[in-house]
Formats: sequence, C-alpha cells, structure tokens
Amino acid sequence: MTFYKFAVFPVDEPTNSFMTEVNAKFGSRRDDGRIHAGCDLYVEDGAAVRAVADGVVLSHLIEFYGDAKYISVDHGNFICRYGELQGYGERPISLGWVKAGDIVGYVKKTLRANKTSYNRPMLHLELYSKLATGKLTNRDNKPTQRRADLVDPTLSLSDSLDRYKTNIQLLLEQKELALRGKKNPLDLLINR
Ligand SMILES: [Zn+2]
Repeated sequence: MTFYKFAVFPVDEPTNSFMTEVNAKFGSRRDDGRIHAGCDLYVEDGAAVRAVADGVVLSHLIEFYGDAKYISVDHGNFICRYGELQGYGERPISLGWVKAGDIVGYVKKTLRANKTSYNRPMLHLELYSKLATGKLTNRDNKPTQRRADLVDPTLSLSDSLDRYKTNIQLLLEQKELALRGKKNPLDLLINR
C-alpha cells in the first residue's frame, strides 16, 4: 500500500483520538450502516486546521455535516478533505495555492441530529489516492459512501503526529536551554 506522507500534522494539539476513540477511528460503524470514511481529531472548538502539505484548494467551504463545512485540497499525489469546519468568519482562510502548515479553516462544533446537543468539536479528515475521478462523496458506493479511491489516513496521521511531538519536545528543550542561559546541550551535561 502506498504511504502518503503528511509534512505537517493538521492541528496544533497532539491529539491521538483517531487511534484511541472508537467513533473517531477510520472504518468505525455508524447507526445508518455507513462506515466512517475518515479520521476524527478531537480538538477545541475554533481550533485552526492546517494544510498537511503544499497543494491547491479544489473546493472551498462546501456544506458538510449539519451546519459545518469542508474544504478539499489537492496535495499532488493525494487529496485531503478537511471537514467539520466553520464558514466564512472574521479570520482569513487560505484560498488557491496553500503551503504546508497554512491555515485552511477552523473547527466548528456541530449540532447533533436531535438539535439539542452538540457533537464534540473535531477535524474530520478524509484521504484520497487520486486513482479515481469525480465527486468525493458517492452515496452509491457502500459502505463508505465515498469515491472508490478513499484511503485510510491513520498511518499518515500517526506518522506526522510522531514528528509533531518530537518537534514540540525539541522546542521545549531549546526553551529550557535558553532559560538556563546555556548555548548547547553539552554545557548542561557538564554542569549536572
Ligand atoms: Zn468523522
């Protein structure tokens, strides 16, 4: 299976809900017989969503679940659909060409079907290999109801999450070094 490498983890929190929470996993069963066509990253309401790689926006803030929207981006050898987003707001959202890490939207808390409570705010991310053409949603293609080239994004996400965590760790270490007024890690070792 082809591995699709994400240069950037799509949210600014090291959430691993797409691997740990049953309903957030790719392929989990839904009440209507459909299976979950993407990975859910549980984050704070309004959290920024970033392009996982350089690319060009295919469709922008289209109606998705409930009152939430999606944006789809062609990243060269794969397409990502970023779902459960807010519509146009005060804040700028990338259009046209995007660079890896550019903000492509903001997460929106969506109303449940019962209209009395909210779903957990999340980024719903779908991945496509571009081996098929046409609309990404295809209700006739059971059980995903998505285009035939839908791919499980779990590996791509967990790989980029690992690198994101490593980068956070390095940043924290650099910050700690700066706080101690040391120029390099060897100084710390010597002074231990
Ligand atoms: Zn989802």
